This record gives sequence, C-alpha cells and structure tokens, in this order.
Amino acid sequence: MEHRAEARIDINALASNISYLKSKVGVDLLAVVKADAYGHGLIEIGLAAEKNGADWLGVALLEEAIALRTHGVRIPILAWLVPPGSDFNSAAKHDIDVAIASMIALEEISQVPLKPRIHIEVDTGMTRGGFLDEWSQLLEADFSKVEVVGIFSHFARADEAGQQQNSDQLQSFKSRVGELAAVGINPPIKHLGNSAATLLDEDSIFDMVRTGIAMYGLSPDIKTMGDSKNLGLKPVMQLRAKLHLVKRVPAGSPVGYGATVITDKETKLGVVAMGYADGIPRISQGAGVFVNGRRAPIMGRVSMDQFVVDLGPDSAANSGDWVIIFGDGSHGEYTADDWGNASLSINYEIVTRIGPRVPRLYAPHVY
Ligand SMILES: *Cc1c(COP(=O)(O)O)cnc(C)c1O
Repeated sequence: MEHRAEARIDINALASNISYLKSKVGVDLLAVVKADAYGHGLIEIGLAAEKNGADWLGVALLEEAIALRTHGVRIPILAWLVPPGSDFNSAAKHDIDVAIASMIALEEISQVPLKPRIHIEVDTGMTRGGFLDEWSQLLEADFSKVEVVGIFSHFARADEAGQQQNSDQLQSFKSRVGELAAVGINPPIKHLGNSAATLLDEDSIFDMVRTGIAMYGLSPDIKTMGDSKNLGLKPVMQLRAKLHLVKRVPAGSPVGYGATVITDKETKLGVVAMGYADGIPRISQGAGVFVNGRRAPIMGRVSMDQFVVDLGPDSAANSGDWVIIFGDGSHGEYTADDWGNASLSINYEIVTRIGPRVPRLYAPHVY
C-alpha cells in the first residue's frame, strides 16, 4: 500500500555510525534504543544494532527491554528507569540488567532468587538519577543477593567542551568508584560517556560508552559541536510525506488556523499530509519541505494531520507528489536540526516524537 507519509530508516547509515563511534573510543558500545529507538523503531534498530557491532543495548523501561528479548536480542541489555514496585523477577528471568538508584530498589531486587544483575547509578552532579543522599547507606548495604555488574553516571553538559561541571562530574565518579572498591565492590563495567562525551572527551571513557543520538547520525548539540557532517555522522532517518493537494491562491489569502500568515503574492500552496498528531511541531517557524529541487517554507500553523507550504508561483509540484520534510541535507533539504531550531527544540525531540501513524521503512531490510 502506498502511504501518505513514511520515515525511511537507513540501516547502512546506522552501521556506519556504530563502527565510527566504536573505532573512536575502542571500548564496548551500548546502543541506546529507548523511546522506540529515538523514534526509529525499537525492535528493528535493536536487532540491527546488535548485528552491526553494538555490544550492549540500553533502554529506559523494563518493558522496552523485555520486548527486545522477546524479539530475539541476545546481547546484554540494561534498563535504567525501573522504579520500586517493578517486576524485578521478570527482569532477571529475561536476563536484563537493571540500574539501581535507591535503597528501596536495591532491597526489592535483592528478593529475586535468580541473583539479578545490577548497575549502580550514581548522581555525580546532574541532580537527576542515581544515588546521592543514600550513598553512605549503599556503602553499608548487603550485596550478596545481587551481581554488581556495573557502576555508571550521566553527564549534564557533555556537549560543552571544557565546561567545569564535566570535570567535576568525572572526579566525583572516580571517587564513588573508589569508595565502592574500598568496601570490596568492584563492578567490572564502569560507564559514564553519552554521545557528546564519546565525541568530545576521551578522559570520560571507561569500559563502555552509551551512545544514543550520535548513533542515529545526529549531533548532540549543533551550536556547540556542529552538525552531523561536521562530526562525521550519517543521519539515519529521512521523513517524507505526500502533497495531499496543490492549489493556486491569490495575494491576501489567510492561511490556516488563526490566519497567522497572509499570502503577499499570488502563489501555489501545497498541503502536506502530516501534522502535529504525527510529531510535526505545531509551531515550526522557518522550517518547511523540499520538493522538486527546492525548499518550500511552512505557512502558518501546523494542524493535527496536515500543514501548508509555499511552493512558489512557478512550482511544478503536483497533488500527490512526495516531499522531504527532513533528511541528511545533502540535496538541500531541511534537516532534523533545522526543525529543532524552528520549533525552539532539539533534533532529539523531532525524531523521537514522530508518531505511530507514520510507517518506518527499513533499507536494507532488518528481517
Ligand atoms: C538517553 C541516555 C543516554 C544517551 O544520550 P545521547 O545524548 O543520546 O547519547 C545515555 N545514558 C543515559 C542514562 C540516558 O538516559
């Protein structure tokens, strides 16, 4: 069936990013596939990452990890947002490593008979996940019922090279590792770096890196680190949609809800068959689509299922033509970075929010 919109997922680009990142750090790579693999498709990307050299997979939720196991992923999987009350038995049964960030979670998981595998998460200064005020209790805890596989933390500002908070977090991480060693706990896998640290800060690399956005070929921060091309990465997702309709309109036509834009000349408008229900940000000032070799800027507000672009008075585009909403930019099309800027957000949010109504097409095929 022909679709009205599709996200094309380039598995060769994914493979190229994985091998580039691995060669850069020379340690194990945990491919972060949380949030439906940043919108690229949890199972397909999980399997493709495994096949193309990822050593681990990382997710936020236990149910994401279980879905990966159920679909045949065999490499180790770490889930790091598994609150108290979760089904820790299932985690152990599916051979899923769980991040532990509180005493109550440690106590609960210690009840599991299968000697569950845990990674201790420490708060080194981001003030979000990880042990902080309970750290001294943790040092006195009973670890006999669990296998402590890892210790890890997460950077808040790794995209800002030379930022003092990064060295503070690194020092704090080393101290925590040392304090744990002093009570006889030496987790074999210490991991700290995310995509930005993997690309910028070799001192922060321990036994494994956890890369998300860079594996999808996108820059952790275009302002501080430049774009994909600058970083040697290949964007994995290209988003396309059909022109539902092309029509000629006179000058003075108010476009869309709220009539926030009025045409200043006679022109051809295109109605693109995607909207905010599909993850196109409602306010996207300065983005647009690429059709017939040129950019057509967005006009007015994005609706739920559609938005309008200005194709220009002499456009040859027709109803039913495909347009590129974002891609790698190599033909002149807008990128996920452009859409991030246009919506006062970031590329992470653009790709992650592409909705379930949009089919993902994989080339080459994953299955
Ligand atoms: C999301 C996440 C990552 C990946 O971050 P990127 O910036 O996409 O590389 C790594 N570690 C943890 C704990 C995360 O939550």
